[in-house]
Amino acid sequence: MNIILFGAPGAGKGTQGERLADHFGMLKLSTGDLLRDAVKKGTPLGLEARRFMDAGELVADSVILGLVGEVMKQQKDGKGVIFDGFPRTVPQAEALTRILDDVGMKLAGVLLLDVADDEIVRRLSGRVSCPSCGSVYNLYSDPPRVAGTCDRCGATLTQRDDDKENTVRRRLAVYREQTEPVVAWYRAHDVPVHTVAGDRGVDEIQTDLRAVLTR
Ligand code: AMP
Repeated sequence: MNIILFGAPGAGKGTQGERLADHFGMLKLSTGDLLRDAVKKGTPLGLEARRFMDAGELVADSVILGLVGEVMKQQKDGKGVIFDGFPRTVPQAEALTRILDDVGMKLAGVLLLDVADDEIVRRLSGRVSCPSCGSVYNLYSDPPRVAGTCDRCGATLTQRDDDKENTVRRRLAVYREQTEPVVAWYRAHDVPVHTVAGDRGVDEIQTDLRAVLTR
């Protein structure tokens, strides 16, 4: 089973995808995480990608497809992949079909997490995370016990450069212009698209997503 977790930045794809991956023994493939890893390591790809990420723009399709292709080569015998933050353009969606064909896999469907724009801006501009253990908090809805400090490991929390309010608005505009058409593309290609309301509690949403996948 291979599925796409779709939705605006901050819709909860990372959190929900991680839980689904744990539950079903699948791999969560987040192109954003792969890029942030390359940025952290200071690779040429990371340095190039960073300019686009910090501006809230998309990284070139060719770069993204190279990263995804590498991971997918090793997934032939896996239990399936949850794509998080990919595909983000129609050419990426077309390429994903070819990548899956090459390894003899198919796409089961698209899960669309639906969240209103105002809520997205609130969530992203309030998001802070721990650079040491990866825990994620929200200053408004899920703050750490001690301001600025990770509950789990005590490290100082940081905000992603692209979660600053101006960049968040640009990322949302890019989502509407370039990424949302991907949903229509899948519908037109008879891939089932399931919309799940993403403005509820994490557990409630997770229950709904699992129910869709076991239907
Ligand atoms: P994310 O963590 O998924 O929100 O991704 C963070 C940033 O990485 C995005 O704003 C883009 O700049 C870049 N990025 C991640 N995935 C993709 C993709 N599939 N295509 C193009 N750019 C991407």
